Amino acid sequence: MTQLAISFTDVVEAHRRISGVAHHTPVLTSATADAQTGARLFFKCENLQRMGAFKFRGGYNAIAQLSPEQRAAGVAAFSSGNHAQAIALSARLFGTRAVIVMPKDAPAAKIAATRGYGGEVVLYDRYTEDRQEISQRLAREQGLTLIPPFDHPHVMAGQGTAAKELFEQAGPLDVLLVPLGGGGLLSGSAVAARAMHPGCKIIGVEPEAGNDGQQSLRAGRIVEIRTPDTIADGAQTQHLGHYTFPVLQQLVDDIVTVSDAQLVEAMRFFAGRMKLVVEPTGCLGAAAAFAGKAPIAGKRVGIILSGGNVDMARYAALLGQVPAQD
Ligand SMILES: *Cc1c(COP(=O)(O)O)cnc(C)c1O
Repeated sequence: MTQLAISFTDVVEAHRRISGVAHHTPVLTSATADAQTGARLFFKCENLQRMGAFKFRGGYNAIAQLSPEQRAAGVAAFSSGNHAQAIALSARLFGTRAVIVMPKDAPAAKIAATRGYGGEVVLYDRYTEDRQEISQRLAREQGLTLIPPFDHPHVMAGQGTAAKELFEQAGPLDVLLVPLGGGGLLSGSAVAARAMHPGCKIIGVEPEAGNDGQQSLRAGRIVEIRTPDTIADGAQTQHLGHYTFPVLQQLVDDIVTVSDAQLVEAMRFFAGRMKLVVEPTGCLGAAAAFAGKAPIAGKRVGIILSGGNVDMARYAALLGQVPAQD
C-alpha cells in the first residue's frame, strides 16, 4: 500500500480550521425519495454552503495553511466554476487578494459572482492561450500561490469535512454516494468514511459522457479523456489527479455513471418535492440512487448534494424539458 496524500487526522484538522466559518449545512430526508428507492436517504445539502458549493471547504482550508508571507502576497486559481468563487471568498475572508484566471467566454454570471466575492478576474482566450501558462506567469510575477481545484492534499482534506459532518449528523451509513470530477470531494470523503464507518460502501458518481474515473479504476492508471459533453459542468474534468487517484484506488468500492436526462430528473425532484435548487453536477449522487445505479435497497444511504450554482435561465430551461421516456 502506498502512503496516501491525506489521513483522517488531516480531515479532522481541516474541520477545526473551517468551523465557525463554513456553514454546518443541514442533512435532509424525504419520505417520497425513500419510498421510491426502498432505502433511507440522507441528503447533505452543500448546495446551501457558503458560495453555493462544498468547494469553500477545501479552498478555505488551503489558504488557512499558507505561511504568513504567502498569505500576504495572495493566491491564484484558474477556474470558471465553483472553485473560482471558493478561492475568491476565502481570500477575502483572510484579507488577501485572489487572482482568478477565467476564459473570456465564461458565463457573465460566473464572472460577476467571482468579482462579487472580491476576486480579481483575468480573462484569457481559451482557443489561443494556455491558462496554466498564464496562471503560472502571474503567480511568478506577483508572488501568488496557485491553489488547484482538486489535486492538493489541503484541498482534499477540506472537502472531506462534508462527509465527516454527514456521518456526525446522520449516524451510521451503509452506502455513501459522492459526485466525482477530479476526485477532491470523493478522496476526502472516502478517507472520512473509512475512518468513521469502515463497513460503509463508498461509491463515486460521474456523468456517463465523462467516465474517466471509472475507466481509471478499471485500468489501474489515470486515464485521460477529451472534455466531456455533459450538463454536469462541475465534472467536466479530463482526468483524476496524482494525489486523488491513489486514494480512490485504495478506498473507493465502485464508480458508477448517470445520464444527463437522469440528472435533470433528479433536479426536478429536488425542486418540486424538497424545494431545493441543486445544480446538475450536484445531482450526480442522488441521480444514481433514483436510477438504481447502486445497490441501496433496505440500506441507509448518505448522498452529498455538492452544489446549487446554476444560472437561473438555464435552470428553468432544464426543468421545463419534457421528461425523457426510457
Ligand atoms: C467541483 C465540483 C464537483 C466535483 O468535485 P471534484 O473534487 O473535482 O471531484 C462536484 N460537484 C460540484 C457542485 C462541484 O463544484
